[in-house]
Amino acid sequence: ENYHVVLAENRKLYNEVQDLKGNIRVYCRIRPFLPGQNQNHSTIEFAGEDGELIVNNPIKQGKDSRKLFKFNKVFSQAASQEEVFKDTQPLIRSVLDGYNVCIFAYGQTGAGKTYTMSGPSLSSKSDWGVNYRALHDLFHISHSRRSSIMYEIGVQMVEIYNEQVRDLLSTNGPQKRLGIWNTTQPNGLAVPDASMHSVNSMTDVLELMNIGMTNRATSATALNERSSRSHSVLSIHVRGNDLKTNTLLRGCLHLVDLAGSERVDRSEATGDRLKEAQHINKSLSALGDVIFALAQKSSHVPYRNSKLTQLLQSSLGGQAKTLMFVQLNPDVASYSETISTLKFAERVSGVELGAARSNK
Ligand code: ADP
Repeated sequence: ENYHVVLAENRKLYNEVQDLKGNIRVYCRIRPFLPGQNQNHSTIEFAGEDGELIVNNPIKQGKDSRKLFKFNKVFSQAASQEEVFKDTQPLIRSVLDGYNVCIFAYGQTGAGKTYTMSGPSLSSKSDWGVNYRALHDLFHISHSRRSSIMYEIGVQMVEIYNEQVRDLLSTNGPQKRLGIWNTTQPNGLAVPDASMHSVNSMTDVLELMNIGMTNRATSATALNERSSRSHSVLSIHVRGNDLKTNTLLRGCLHLVDLAGSERVDRSEATGDRLKEAQHINKSLSALGDVIFALAQKSSHVPYRNSKLTQLLQSSLGGQAKTLMFVQLNPDVASYSETISTLKFAERVSGVELGAARSNK
């Protein structure tokens, strides 16, 4: 197969480019076909463990139809939640050493963002997404280090909808209050009004998530519609007191389920729907611009252009680490959204290979 030549060539180029930039990683995850989707019409021609991906539109064959992409990792349809987490775990653990980490899920609605971040259900642990696995892991490790470092873990959860930030763990009303983490300046999410809740166990976490979900649902728009048009940010703040040196370390982890990236047909959308679409476009491209600027080590990083990038400013750039999950729907009907998702991903990873090299 001449692909192997192309792949090897691209791998070399990719590795060279990767060496230049340390802290931005892009993982691609392809979700399986759902019942009713025609499995013979997959746009994914090749998904390699080394991060190579070839997409092809099986209906419109043509010499330019085949496109090659390269990411840090590609997870095929068969990848389990556990496998996906395994490659994310070192990043998450670094939070306990004082790093700031942002993990995003990007992609069109229905491509598996929420599946990756939260999981399809909470009842079975094997279903847990990155959010729950991360907290579970952070508890486990902080516990195992308790003879040398005393950790405290605090959680915030906000939603950004139409460039407005809303605290999803607001303690007004009848919900049970788990206690506000008393700290003047948490490093990380700069939401002065969002409540911070200390958590000690998965029971605490699950209780908070329920509050968050309930709060998210109480809006005029149905939950699943709203969640596809807003960003949700779960922020986990860690403080550790090193008992030997008596020093304090802080780290934080932001887990962001982004609004659906699909383009809205301007001729059809009007009123609120058009306004939502414009806010989503604006904030996703602002995020892309920030990560791109960081990957290029640019002297100007345009954080001010959206609420999301403003909120996450202290956790994007510098020593902070960023991981983007790029979610794909393999269905041929999603081909053009898949390509635009992959173009976004290429741009933020700073590595654009694309058709030029795959057309040989
Ligand atoms: P998004 O958050 O991007 O809108 P969802 O996470 O809601 O997408 O996924 C859409 C549908 O696909 C859901 O029914 C979900 O359970 C299913 N799904 C997504 N990813 C997977 C996966 N890796 N394995 C099995 N089902 C998945």
